Formats: sequence, structure tokens, C-alpha cells
Amino acid sequence: CENAAETRATTDPSAVEKNHSPGQPSEEGKIKIGFSMDTLEEERWLRDRALFKEAVENLGAEVEIMAANEDDAKQILQAETLISQGVDLLVVVPNNAEATAAIVNKAHLAGIKVISYDRLVKNADIDMYISFDNEQVGELQAKAITELVPKGRYVLIGGASTDYNAHLLKKGVFNVLQPYIDRGDITIVYDQWTDNWTPTNAYKNMEVALKANNNHIDAVIAANDATAGGAIAALEAHGLAGKIPVSGQDAELAAAQRIVVGTQHLTIYKPLNMLAEKAAELAVKMAKGESIVADRKINNGKIEVPSVLLAPIAVDRHNIDETIIRDHFHSREDVYMVD
Ligand code: BGC
Repeated sequence: CENAAETRATTDPSAVEKNHSPGQPSEEGKIKIGFSMDTLEEERWLRDRALFKEAVENLGAEVEIMAANEDDAKQILQAETLISQGVDLLVVVPNNAEATAAIVNKAHLAGIKVISYDRLVKNADIDMYISFDNEQVGELQAKAITELVPKGRYVLIGGASTDYNAHLLKKGVFNVLQPYIDRGDITIVYDQWTDNWTPTNAYKNMEVALKANNNHIDAVIAANDATAGGAIAALEAHGLAGKIPVSGQDAELAAAQRIVVGTQHLTIYKPLNMLAEKAAELAVKMAKGESIVADRKINNGKIEVPSVLLAPIAVDRHNIDETIIRDHFHSREDVYMVD
């Protein structure tokens, strides 16, 4: 995109503020990566932020980070700021899979490559996608729940419909559930997205599901631990917590505690250090103009995006010690709530 970069330099006044061109070390001689995050709401994103910063710095580069509080317009503005500050490459966790295509286009006009982090940007010429296998997240959730409840009435508490991960996850859930549904063993009695993945919205969804079914439900597949927390609070209000298995993902501390107490059946653990370190490595290499070979391709509606998909891990009370505790993702004391 060098031509595009030149065009922009002569037509866009903000380009004057750029202190160096993409791929060229800054005055201090360091590659600079921009990290445009959607939200810091869930516990995991604070970890992603810290781990990514550390990983980039360990590679001798620097990083500028902004978070948009789930606001599309704000995320686009922040990305523009990062571009005008002269970052060599942009890493984006999109709030809205479609709206953030604008960021990719703007970055490319400035000659800057873009990596989609954890969530896929749809319908844009994104340069690289790195995440956990989100379809597999859904499969692991459904597999664990069907092992416990092979027949019954299922409630699906989905993620945010604006997040493509929520769709991939649902696809994975149905990969597993469909044969049970076809046999007539499982019936989906409620299936809704959860705006912004919030526990409050998940609570409301679960209330509606309970009411619509006179509390007659047998299992809940909740998309992440935040929504699982909301769903379990609603079950609790009806004396049903711990009686109906619920899934989640992220291995949040509260979820790990619910697993040992028995109100949540499983979570999906995604070792975030692997994601952050791989993303940092790819970002710095690509910023230097090195070519990258990705093992997978994922269609984002426009192109086949070179992708790296890491493996998620299902965690229930039987393997919690040898997964998230062994990895020091959480301490044993915190999980088991002992001194
Ligand atoms: C992530 C989940 C997270 C959710 C809400 C998804 O895209 O993959 O880990 O819980 O967003 O932030």
C-alpha cells in the first residue's frame, strides 16, 4: 500500500503529525504497535491488555493502547488517533464486527496493516486474524452439557449478535446439538442473543426463558462467564441454581468459584498468554514487513483471512486444578475461597 500511504501524506493534514512511516522504526528506533480494544468490561480484557503490552515490549517494540467502552464511533476515532500518531501496525478487537471495517480501510490508506485480535472484523481486507477457535468453544460447551443432559429442554443464552464470535460459538453449539434435536431428544425452548454480553441482559433473558417454560428447563448453554453469571443469578432467584447445568467461557474467577461450589458446570479456559504472545509476535514481524505464513484461512465475507486459531480447553470441577490453577491463571486460594 505504499502508494496509498503517499497519497494520504499529501492530502490528509493529520498525516503531517506522523513522526515516521509504517515499517520504519520511530525516532527512538522502536516499532510502534497500536492496540484498539473494544471493552475492558470482562475480567479477561484487562489481562489481554497487560499481557499484550508485556509481549510487545519483550520484543523491543512499544504499544499504544485505547479502549472504546463498547462504542463503535469512539473505537473508530481512537483508531484514527493511533494511525495519526504513526503506529506501524494496528491490532483491533472490534466492538462491532461490521462497523470496524472502516478502521481497516483507514489504516490501509495510511499504509498500515491490521490484525484482528480475538474477534473477526467482517467484510474488510483484514491482514491477519488471531483467536481461539470460537466454533470449538461452542462445541466444547455443548459436548459437556449433553454428556450430563442427553435429553431435555435446552435454553441458549447467546453472546452479542454484533460480535462474530457469538455466531461462531452458536454454530459450534448446533454442530453438537443438531443430531440430538433431529432425534427428538433435545428441544431448544429458548434461544436469544445478549446485548453487549452483559450479566444484566442475560439475567433478563433467563427470566423470560423460565417464565415462558414454567421453570421447566433442563440445561443452559450460556455463551461466556458474564452471561452465565446473569443466568445463574436468575436460576438462583427461582431456587434452581445448581440443579440445572450451565456453561460459560473465559475462566473468570467468579465462574471458577461457581464451578467448585456447583452452580456452574463448566467454563472454557483460553490461555490468554498464548493469544497475546502470538499476536505480539505477528504484529511486530508484520510491522517490519516480514512475511507471515498462517496455517488457516477464515472467510470474513470479503476475503479468506490468514488466521491463527488456538485451542480452547473445557474446564469443570474435575480438571480445574490441572488447568487454570496449575497455570496460575487463578490461585487455588482464590478459586476455593480458602486462606
Ligand atoms: C470473547 C469472549 C468474551 C466476550 C465478551 C468475545 O468475543 O471471545 O472471551 O467473553 O467477547 O467480551
